[in-house]
Amino acid sequence: MQAIPGAWRRTATGAGLLGPDGSPAPTIFAEMTALAARTGAINLGQGFPDEDGPSQILEVARQAIADGVNQYPPGRGIGDLRAAIAEHQQRFYGIDLDPEREVLVTAGATEALAATLLALLDGPDDEVVVFEPFYDSYAACVALAGARLVPVPLAWPDFQPDLDDLRRAVTDRTRIILVNDPHNPTGAVFSDEVRTEIVRLAERHDAIIVTDEVYEHLVFDGVRHRPLAAEPGAAQRTVSISSGGKTFSATGWKIGWVSGPAALVDAVLAVKQFLTYVNGAPFQPAIAAGLRLPDEFFAEIAATLQRKRDLLGDGLRAAGLEVAVSRGSYFTVADAASLGATDAQEFCRALPERAGVVAIPLTAFVTPANRARYATLVRFAACKRVEVLTEASVRLSSLSR
Ligand code: PMP
Ligand code: GLN
Repeated sequence: MQAIPGAWRRTATGAGLLGPDGSPAPTIFAEMTALAARTGAINLGQGFPDEDGPSQILEVARQAIADGVNQYPPGRGIGDLRAAIAEHQQRFYGIDLDPEREVLVTAGATEALAATLLALLDGPDDEVVVFEPFYDSYAACVALAGARLVPVPLAWPDFQPDLDDLRRAVTDRTRIILVNDPHNPTGAVFSDEVRTEIVRLAERHDAIIVTDEVYEHLVFDGVRHRPLAAEPGAAQRTVSISSGGKTFSATGWKIGWVSGPAALVDAVLAVKQFLTYVNGAPFQPAIAAGLRLPDEFFAEIAATLQRKRDLLGDGLRAAGLEVAVSRGSYFTVADAASLGATDAQEFCRALPERAGVVAIPLTAFVTPANRARYATLVRFAACKRVEVLTEASVRLSSLSR
């Protein structure tokens, strides 16, 4: 059969997923979760919790289904969820939002990112500055939009960008600076200098800042998340994106949101309404209830995940890997070079057989030209039960023998 034409090809290429035979490969997350299922290995690859979130939230969703909340919600999301998102931004960050005009509910952060990038980019002259390694959907959506990705490297072990690299990357061609903080896959939380420079460069070059803050409540060591939109001068040019998946351990519910100036939110809505239109009617009131949980809930999820980060880090070090201490997110990056690895992808494909554990090579999050820089780095997810992380550590210890 002839090659099938269409934008899928540049999307798959952008994500590094067009195979040598011209067919699209599944994402690294799908591949590694399937590998875990096939081999019975412990899945520290794809980032999803193996326990449910708060039962009162689950109950709100059950009750909503029983109460007939099963038809299309409004295009911008149910009013109560938009109000809860605005309250949450005010309570945690002092950000004022009009829930009618400045908040939009989406099908997870994934759709929020896709709709935002498709809405705000317009062809090959538009550039998007991203920090590399980056979450896989960024390169895919920038390619789908026909725009150009400009990566700024994050280097082991603290994964902060070099400010001169950042200054060189942002120009008058930059439409968007896309910032994921806390950062997947590295666990970095960006320093004050980096944050200030992002805002300064965006102002100087009239770029829009798009943030991905899905790990906003999973920051460690007593640090509190600060959205870039709260920086002086940033609000009017920032589209902030988050989701309930990580905060409420409900990654399958796919309730996300966009907030920012009304004109930018309207532009995103113009695209979003033709992607999914709407989603998740009974989950929307449940996430609204979650966002209104007391401060103790949010403190507790960060403290619990921090203990898991420490447990995982100890296990990785005991297994002979070097570990970059994660400051936030589900993830910890380790260097397998100390175990003799030269190619993280090969290391990860062999890991289920060698140690009964699945992890993700960092090369899955970088542009092909830059793979060498991350060749031996591996991402492990800490969002699993303590017994599972303990068992994974026991298994990984076989690597150093
Ligand atoms: N951004 C980042 C950095 C992520 O790690 C994820 C996935 N978990 C997403 C976006 C997608 O979020 P969602 O599941 O809400 O679509
Ligand atoms: N965000 C999850 C991760 O980084 C994966 C989500 C997905 O499979 N697309 O592991």
